[in-house]
Amino acid sequence: MQNEAKVDVIVVGGGLAGIWTCFRLIALNKKVALIDLPESNCSSSIAAGIYNPLLAKHQKLSYKAHEIYPHIAEEYAKIEAFINEQVHHAMPIAYIIDQLKTLNDWAGLCSDDRFKPFVSLNNERLSDNIISDLGYLTIQSSAWVDIPHLMNAFITAIQSEHIYLNQTFDYSSLQINEDHLRYQNLLADKIVFCEGIGIQQNPFAAHIRLKPAKGELLIINSQCAVNDCIPQQGVFLLPVAPNTFKVGSNFEWQQLDTHITESAKQEIVDKLCEWFKEPFEIIDHKAGIRPSSHDRRPILGAIDDHQQLFVFNGLGSKGVALSPYYSQCLVEHMFKGTPIDDEVSVNRYRPRC
Ligand SMILES: Cc1cc2nc3c(=O)[nH]c(=O)nc-3n(C[C@H](O)[C@H](O)[C@H](O)COP(=O)(O)OP(=O)(O)OC[C@H]3O[C@@H](n4cnc5c(N)ncnc54)[C@H](O)[C@@H]3O)c2cc1C
Repeated sequence: MQNEAKVDVIVVGGGLAGIWTCFRLIALNKKVALIDLPESNCSSSIAAGIYNPLLAKHQKLSYKAHEIYPHIAEEYAKIEAFINEQVHHAMPIAYIIDQLKTLNDWAGLCSDDRFKPFVSLNNERLSDNIISDLGYLTIQSSAWVDIPHLMNAFITAIQSEHIYLNQTFDYSSLQINEDHLRYQNLLADKIVFCEGIGIQQNPFAAHIRLKPAKGELLIINSQCAVNDCIPQQGVFLLPVAPNTFKVGSNFEWQQLDTHITESAKQEIVDKLCEWFKEPFEIIDHKAGIRPSSHDRRPILGAIDDHQQLFVFNGLGSKGVALSPYYSQCLVEHMFKGTPIDDEVSVNRYRPRC
């Protein structure tokens, strides 16, 4: 048998939820073991990486917009300092106004105190190759994060002082004792499950039911000169490199596999072509499954009575924005006893007697 290794916390899953949880734990001087199998479904490696405080189509703010979005850039700056790489790219979203009624509505909403910090109305065209005769909204406190870059750099950064195991976590090998957990040769005080849709295989969390949503996105090449904002109407056009853009995405709740489909590709292309008039070539097409919850709120907290087993999941389509904030809430709960809001607590899944 290999030598035993003692850590404070085992984290299962190395997507956004797992990485942010590890980062928060390390900031509290905890030693972590991260166990992740990136080859299985990893929504984080497919995601475009955009965050946006506004649901412009519905004329609503994103969940906890004022509390979370103005601080996201600062949080990513902290993790960037840790990995010594830039992954956060501040960039406003340009929401194209396609109807006169929408224009009139936003003319009023832009001076509403709730929306004012995030949004302003522009009456000119966005660019020659983008149909936007009614103008567009500029949405601030938005950006995109290069998530694959973040995940790779984070794993490199933790390897010397922490443990990284590139393997499937075998739930049947977890031994739960009163004062410690044992997993193979690891001894730990606590474990946090951050498996995205993989939670559906977790026997300790069998009572937690997700409502996953498949999504596909395209990567295109185009000579389009727009590279300082993210045009959006039906789909987004995210500039990620010179002449390279991510375009997406769609939502599918029935066929929950990771295969790319012609129908989703066509849906995305059709929506893009309604306003994007520059020729383009599709160079890649990806599919993933978002770990969404029924009430579209994250899921966090202890799943046992002894505060040894925890989950962090339910990030849905907002993992980039929600993972920094709720990973902090989770570790403060784990080590300082700070209560978790009922709205996001895993207790809402507890079987009722
Ligand atoms: C097409 C598409 C576009 C998206 N665009 C955006 C966007 O622009 N902005 C945004 O905020 N969000 C976006 N999302 C959503 C985003 O991807 C999720 O919110 C987020 O990535 C969820 O992170 P997670 O860590 O909870 O899950 P995941 O990223 O799925 O990570 C879970 C990890 O756990 C591992 N795992 C599971 N079970 C085990 C096990 N037994 N042993 C070991 N490892 C295990 C998996 O391999 C995976 O690596 C998009 C999603 C899709 C599909």
